[in-house]
Amino acid sequence: MPQSTPLYRRPAFVFGPPLVMAIAGVTLLIQAAFGAGSLGVVKQKLETLAEAETPAFTIRESDWVRAKLTDPNSVFVVVNKHRQINPKSFEPNDLVKVQSSKTLDNSRKLVLSQEAASALEEMAQGLSAAGQGKLFLNSAYRSYDYQAELFIGKVKQYGKAEALLKSARAGYSEHQTGLAADVSVPEQGCAILACFGNTPAGKWIHEHSWKYGFIVRYLETTTSTTGYAYEPWHLRYVGKEVARLYHANGIQTLEEFWGLPPAPDYLSATTESTSN
Ligand SMILES: [Zn+2]
Repeated sequence: MPQSTPLYRRPAFVFGPPLVMAIAGVTLLIQAAFGAGSLGVVKQKLETLAEAETPAFTIRESDWVRAKLTDPNSVFVVVNKHRQINPKSFEPNDLVKVQSSKTLDNSRKLVLSQEAASALEEMAQGLSAAGQGKLFLNSAYRSYDYQAELFIGKVKQYGKAEALLKSARAGYSEHQTGLAADVSVPEQGCAILACFGNTPAGKWIHEHSWKYGFIVRYLETTTSTTGYAYEPWHLRYVGKEVARLYHANGIQTLEEFWGLPPAPDYLSATTESTSN
């Protein structure tokens, strides 16, 4: 068969106009609804969208949402060893104290981004209703400076290689977004230890936290992607819709969910001393 000049009648060209119009319509709708940038509005709108269609990765394919992957004010933000928070000294402007209650102990008076705080309070109620005890909040929002201190402490305690697996450099910690929480259930032991994953509460969290918009960010099997050891206590708030899709599709990392490259190590020596 003679080779001819390839004629790119791409499906995008043939079916393009109606498809583009449909996408543009949805995008405009999303932009109109999300213009204010409120996390609550985003959540509500995504839930409505999901009820309407439920294709697994509508969210992932939306340019508008993908643009939010670098926005530390967005629940979609992805922070890992390749993706420093920008600006690196970012501080969320909607931090609120997580409410202590009969189902949640926040005696450390820690703060989270508002939506994540409400979701955690809701999850604590679910945990308690399931007979799994009272949730204790060990760590939540951490400022850049605090993270720097913490990292230096871990290096002293464990040596650098181990510290890198256990803790993040300042500017690279999900805790700085106000969307990450370290939790335990003291009556079941194993607080901030890998064995928490084997306690009934740890198992309940692994199975149910997605319903409240959380994912267990660092699993036993994902160190080669995330660069972090297993942390069954570290929850990352991603919003109920992303968490639902994440769970429904058996996704194990945010990198996989959003189609981002693995980030097992920091990229270069230039990021070496962020803990200045
Ligand atoms: Zn953590």
